[in-house]
Amino acid sequence: RFYSAEAAAQQEPDEARSTSSGPITRFADLSQLDVHPNLVQALTQGMKYETMTEVQSMTINPALQGVDLVAQAKTGTGKTLAFLVPVFQRLLMEIPELADPRSRRRASADDVKAIIMSPTRELAEQIGVEAKKLARDTGIMVQTAVGGTRKRESLMQMQRQGCHILVATPGRLQDLLSDPHAGVAAPNLKAFVLDEADRMLDVGFSDAIRDILDLVPSVQEVDRQTLLFSATIPKDVVHLAKSLVKVDNFKFVQTIR
Ligand code: ADP
Ligand code: MG
Repeated sequence: RFYSAEAAAQQEPDEARSTSSGPITRFADLSQLDVHPNLVQALTQGMKYETMTEVQSMTINPALQGVDLVAQAKTGTGKTLAFLVPVFQRLLMEIPELADPRSRRRASADDVKAIIMSPTRELAEQIGVEAKKLARDTGIMVQTAVGGTRKRESLMQMQRQGCHILVATPGRLQDLLSDPHAGVAAPNLKAFVLDEADRMLDVGFSDAIRDILDLVPSVQEVDRQTLLFSATIPKDVVHLAKSLVKVDNFKFVQTIR
């Protein structure tokens, strides 16, 4: 039931409705939902995005209301912005000084506010590039930590520059969070994203993900929003999702295209 198309269809009509005229479908109209002007500006003027894709409209609208999401959508449908927009807005709303570009200087690696996990180095780096563009008019510091690069160097950069949003592969993230000398921690974690969850489980990251969940504060300890994206929703992804999202406050989104 959890992942059936009927359930998704039944859930959709009212919950996706954010304004009297239906869900927002243009990035410029995000200001109607009180999305921070610096974020709307980076999207529309900096990155020149205009109309949302289907999965973006279907996820950004409810995610801005604070619900957790389990979303299924194919590759190439624009999932990166579907999670980056709500994550950025959540940080800007909860920590208003992050809107000021000067707050980047006060970023600290031991107080990471959002974690985005991606299965491969290439995908994590792409997300990092997109997130840095989105951060352009804000004080949000984005760092990328992936396997295959020298841990010491990426750690030194993280400590020197600080980090609000950490984009990482599960192995490297587990390594950083469990190393007592690394000084990487997320005691006030506000958003937790799993991108391509099916691929992460396929390549054997389920133990690393378990470990990471033990190393970050639980949903009982902090009010964090969890967003899970996956191209397919097999049983193991359902199990993972159920252990992550707020069972009484989540939405399942499924796109057809
Ligand atoms: P996915 O993660 O679903 O595979 P991406 O987030 O990587 O997809 O997006 C695929 C491509 O589409 C990227 O080049 C991105 O810049 C572009 N893109 C995403 N959303 C939009 C949009 N609303 N309008 C135009 N291009 C978009
Ligand atoms: Mg992607």
